[in-house]
Amino acid sequence: MKNKRLLWLICILALALAGCGESEDSSAAVTKAQSVTAAESRVSKEQSDQTQTQTAESTTTSATTTAKTTTTTTTSKTAAATKKQTSKKPQKTTTTTTTTAKAITTTALQTTTAAPAPTTTTSAATTTTAAATTTTAASTTTTAAPTTTTAKTMASTKPAATSAEKKPAAEKAEVTAPAAVRFQVSTTNKKTKIKWESVEGADGYVVWIKRSKDGKWERQLETDKLSCTLKEPRNKNNSFCVKAYRNDENGKKIYSEKAHVSAFPYLYKKDGVTYVDGILIVNKTYSLPASYGSGLTEKTLSAFYEMQQGAANDGVSLWITSGFRSYDTQSWLYWSYVNRDGSQWSADRYSARAGHSEHQSGLAFDLNFAGMAFNGTPEARWIEKNCYKYGFIVRYPEGKEDKTGFSYESWHCRYVGKELAKTLTESGLTIEEYYGLTSVYN
Ligand SMILES: [Zn+2]
Repeated sequence: MKNKRLLWLICILALALAGCGESEDSSAAVTKAQSVTAAESRVSKEQSDQTQTQTAESTTTSATTTAKTTTTTTTSKTAAATKKQTSKKPQKTTTTTTTTAKAITTTALQTTTAAPAPTTTTSAATTTTAAATTTTAASTTTTAAPTTTTAKTMASTKPAATSAEKKPAAEKAEVTAPAAVRFQVSTTNKKTKIKWESVEGADGYVVWIKRSKDGKWERQLETDKLSCTLKEPRNKNNSFCVKAYRNDENGKKIYSEKAHVSAFPYLYKKDGVTYVDGILIVNKTYSLPASYGSGLTEKTLSAFYEMQQGAANDGVSLWITSGFRSYDTQSWLYWSYVNRDGSQWSADRYSARAGHSEHQSGLAFDLNFAGMAFNGTPEARWIEKNCYKYGFIVRYPEGKEDKTGFSYESWHCRYVGKELAKTLTESGLTIEEYYGLTSVYN
């Protein structure tokens, strides 16, 4: 029997020490403590009376003293009840305890007595004497009281803090993201221009670029205008992104949805002539008006003369066999080939239909013998290697028939300017490939 009681007490103490939780349970413990009957208190009193541990004895003393000095049984009841409570629902009482008690038996004891403290105060009217007379109970209550208050204030400040954190978040949410930006990209060989529509309520716009070479988004600029020009040469694999933003109360930017486009060819027509990046386009897909053209352009001619001189310096002789060809001339030529070959299908492989010939543009010409016999000659090899230096390209390279729409012509040069000529030659791309264009008859 004695052993059993000892075990009980050890259990109580162990639980008091090991427990951990929130202080809010104390009130529950108190209410429960209040409802414990006197009979129960007697039992627990008996139990504690007979224990051999010093700590247990001191508790009992405090309990009994209280009981004796108080006229009412409330204090003894509650004190004992808490003990009962401790044994019945260890976790709950312990919770209150552990906050104050730091694994020291005495503190644990203090709190056991201190736990009912609120009850003592609530029933203050009846127990005032008890509080005054029982020094042990009073002192423990005071030690416990601040702890409980701290615990309470902590508990009350905690949600207060979170609500304070939540508040600005809620205010931020009031600043809604602006609508996605609708924008258009146009590029030349030197720069990229981006224009966009105004977004309601936007404080500004931020422009990003993703270059094909590294594939990383890079912030370019911030502006309150509706367009910008970047020193970004045309590359159909580049992507651009424009986002509108609104500033929230803390000056943080709230961005619109991400939207990006690739700088795909910005084709436009002027007087019936198609251009992309300022480069005139004429092939099987894009035609020239019948009235267009009157001869080789000045730029084309002067560039040719320069090239001719350059070739001469290398001991290579170049001359123009066929330069500008009008719509009518081309029409006559094309149909003569059709008649000769017996079908348009055959002529279409090497001769352009009227309006679709580069010769009408004034930017292209055929050199020297202008026929299959020219392929592989020193002159042809020189052109292939050097014409870009003068702003020309071999417009219909070998193996690109499906791109350009025409079979290989080592003698046909097209003026595109030194910059694009270099880009195309180095990349090995045709105009169609570089700009992502087709070359097929409708
Ligand atoms: Zn030609």
